[in-house]
Amino acid sequence: MSAVANHFSQSYAEAREKFCASVAESGGGLRSLRNPTLGPDGERLFMDVARFGADDAPRMLVLMAATHGVEGYCGSGAMINWLRAGRAAALPSDTGALLIHGVNPHGFAWIRRVNEDNVDVNRNFVDHGKAYPANSGYVELADALKPATYDEASLAESRRVFAAFTQQHGAFGFQSAVSAGQYTHPQGLFFGGNKPTWTNRAIRRVIREELGHARLIGCIDFHTGLGPFGHGEMINVSPPGSAAFARAKRWYGDEMTSPEQGSSTSAVVTGAVLDAFPQEAPDAAFCGIALEYGTYPVDEVMEAVRRDNWLHIHGDLNSAQGRDFKAYMRERFYPADAKWAEMVWSRADEVIGMALSGLATS
Ligand SMILES: [Zn+2]
Repeated sequence: MSAVANHFSQSYAEAREKFCASVAESGGGLRSLRNPTLGPDGERLFMDVARFGADDAPRMLVLMAATHGVEGYCGSGAMINWLRAGRAAALPSDTGALLIHGVNPHGFAWIRRVNEDNVDVNRNFVDHGKAYPANSGYVELADALKPATYDEASLAESRRVFAAFTQQHGAFGFQSAVSAGQYTHPQGLFFGGNKPTWTNRAIRRVIREELGHARLIGCIDFHTGLGPFGHGEMINVSPPGSAAFARAKRWYGDEMTSPEQGSSTSAVVTGAVLDAFPQEAPDAAFCGIALEYGTYPVDEVMEAVRRDNWLHIHGDLNSAQGRDFKAYMRERFYPADAKWAEMVWSRADEVIGMALSGLATS
């Protein structure tokens, strides 16, 4: 296996150990916030936060892995490669870095996108004191997305409902209805929660405590599951027309995409984690993107999420079907292919370099 692929991991525990060791070798500070749940092998789970550079560095690079649990294998591997390549030592003197590993450690350890409450953490950063965004398409699809049994008859019925919906709203309309976020079905898919999750509270605390001194924050949140195999799409979720959007366009150029402008593989989503940065560090100018790596066709990715949801609510993780579903899920969000890992790292290094150039010149 290549050196690059070796810095990726096969379990949460392995990823955490490698990350913490790489941080120590690179001279970084580390703090760990414990998640109240345990992993499948009884392992303890943490959001590990590594810090590099001066305490009062005005420019801060922020990297995040595992907002969507299982997608953390990608972000973790990229961060560990970044550390092993000596990039932390090469930061300019006025620039610090904050590496947040295990944003949603429960999903990371259990090979799930969601957290310990079946919540999609990246739909949870809405104002829970206000009415939730409506998603009528999800309501229409809810029963077909989460059948009581998972057999040929229920699959055929689901396919019929999906085809009818797609006929009416198009393939992207279907993807949007499923994945935009919903606040009505706690056991369903892409559920945004009905209160701030553990991750939501922990991230806000980290931002307040670690980024209060910053004047400029450049953040990259690693994701997987959308787009061509190994391609890293730079997705901006700031409103077009905002200062954050214009800044991101300067840093990342025309290749940067925007769900709201219809140029992204992602639907417009509600309650993204990146929204917390301007809220908790209001004195800093902000520039955040999701770096979304493609894996497999979107219908397979959606099917993986659907099976995983069904498995954890109705199925048996230790059955043959349970192991099958879990392996399918893992591969859809973390392809077992050294070439994919190499593409992830080379693109990550490039995009992090663009963020550092933007931090230096803004
Ligand atoms: Zn994601």
